[in-house]
Amino acid sequence: MADVKSDIEIARAARKKPILEIGEKLGIPPEHLLPYGHDKAKVSAEFIAAQKDRRNGKLILVTAINPTPAGEGKTTTTVGLGDGLNRIGKKAIVCIREASLGPCFGVKGGAAGGGYAQVVPMEDMNLHFTGDFHAITAAHNLLSALLDNHIYWGNEQNIDIRRIAWRRVMDMNDRALRQIVCSLGGVANGYPRETGFDITVASEVMAILCLARDLKDLERRLGNIIVGYRRDKSPVFARDIKADGAMTVLLKDAMQPNLVQTLENNPAFVHGGPFANIAHGCNSVIATTTALKLADYVVTEAGFGADLGAEKFFDIKCRKAGLKPDAAVIVATVRAMKMNGGVKKDDLNREDIEAVRKGCANLGRHVQNVKKFGVPVVVAINHFTSDTEAEIRAVKDYVATLGAEAILCRHWAEGSAGIEALARKVVELADSGLSQFSPLYPDDMPLFQKIETIAKDIYHAGEVIADKTVRDQLRVWEEQGYGRLPVCMAKTQYSFSTDPNLRGAPSGHTVPVREVRLSAGAGFVVVITGEIMTMPGLPKVPSSERIFLNEDGQIEGLS
Ligand code: ADP
Ligand code: MG
Repeated sequence: MADVKSDIEIARAARKKPILEIGEKLGIPPEHLLPYGHDKAKVSAEFIAAQKDRRNGKLILVTAINPTPAGEGKTTTTVGLGDGLNRIGKKAIVCIREASLGPCFGVKGGAAGGGYAQVVPMEDMNLHFTGDFHAITAAHNLLSALLDNHIYWGNEQNIDIRRIAWRRVMDMNDRALRQIVCSLGGVANGYPRETGFDITVASEVMAILCLARDLKDLERRLGNIIVGYRRDKSPVFARDIKADGAMTVLLKDAMQPNLVQTLENNPAFVHGGPFANIAHGCNSVIATTTALKLADYVVTEAGFGADLGAEKFFDIKCRKAGLKPDAAVIVATVRAMKMNGGVKKDDLNREDIEAVRKGCANLGRHVQNVKKFGVPVVVAINHFTSDTEAEIRAVKDYVATLGAEAILCRHWAEGSAGIEALARKVVELADSGLSQFSPLYPDDMPLFQKIETIAKDIYHAGEVIADKTVRDQLRVWEEQGYGRLPVCMAKTQYSFSTDPNLRGAPSGHTVPVREVRLSAGAGFVVVITGEIMTMPGLPKVPSSERIFLNEDGQIEGLS
């Protein structure tokens, strides 16, 4: 279809307002906006601190069914809903994550939404933006350098160099750096050892920045990072090698949320971007808590499907930050229903009501799961042009049997005008006072039982299995005082089970725990159930091959 504009063409044609005007809508005085160019600004820490006694607005989570290659459009729907709420006269802000360079040049494409529901400037947001990720990279690698330097100059902390737990990071997909040997080249370069690089979004520093309430809390958490262990297995912390102060200095500006605007000139905070598997996958706590002070409705997104993203949003972010979500939107598409119902990607454009009905089981499970947290739910059907009336009807009828409503949304094609009905429903749910939010498990539940609770209640697994070493490790952490931490599940996003090919709503499967890792600074225990890639690779034909500057100096190829 020649008349369908690409995301970047639409974004380029946006009539942006100066960022100071967007700030004014929120009551942020110009002296508290720190502009990065004309269309991006950070909100000052002083202004944020001064809002603390204000009343909070309502918090709305946008999550989704298990993703399929067909695409769901969570960010697109988050941005669209923000515009929709503003359109019906509400004061609303969108809070989403920043983009990582690695996937941008790999396969993923942009992270600013799509169609007529985007935040702008999308080119900046998908590239260097306000430099937050570079600051996080620098802070992480400062700690790496200080650690090797500490060992070089006599190793006062007696760190066992076979048990170093801190790697290096960069914001790039580069499989060549996954495992390396460092300090080669002789005495002057230290003690050779194996190590490697992760992508910046997988850094614990990223997770910490996203969970910290303020700079003091940030510094405390950075100090709690475990960099390695002594021969007696006692942990060595970042504070033991006096890294926390300088790391905080490097992150001072990165801690301030970034204000940008949607295509319809409504405010959006774009801040932080932790991995959704080995971390919790949501934008920063400070952006969300600030937004709640400045608007009546805050729309935010959690990574992956609701089994991973929403569970961690509720059990990690909301628990830690004391947030109480008022409503949740589950994004579904007819195409993804079909894929969950067994249709192959190439056949998605053919009407198949039976497959839609079959795939609805996946959606139903997510609706019921979110209700377990006490949060009222509405389903957004993100409309694709290939959807047929009968297919849409099938999704709506199915959702009605669950005591919920599914609303067709055309924000991708029409902007806020296409999502008014959802906006009204969200307001109704959020204002109803029906939300009785509580996390799935209490802090004082033993760690292994927390894993079992998530596996059984959310994934509908029959059992969790783990080697003795894993169970012993969890017990040691409990003895060391880490037993009250939440768990952060690392599981395939494609299935409720640990098998990515098992679509729909499987029950009774086994969840094998392969490994557990302590993120003592971020404040969670990572539970790994499959292959987890902390440094992605690029595909054979990376999307960077399509990215270039055109004759007018404009960027082409960012989708
Ligand atoms: P998610 O946040 O779930 O990963 P995004 O919102 O980033 O997904 O959308 C992924 C891609 O799908 C974007 O390029 C976007 O333009 C496209 N997309 C989203 N919704 C639609 C739609 N209704 N029709 C066509 N393309 C869409
Ligand atoms: Mg997204």
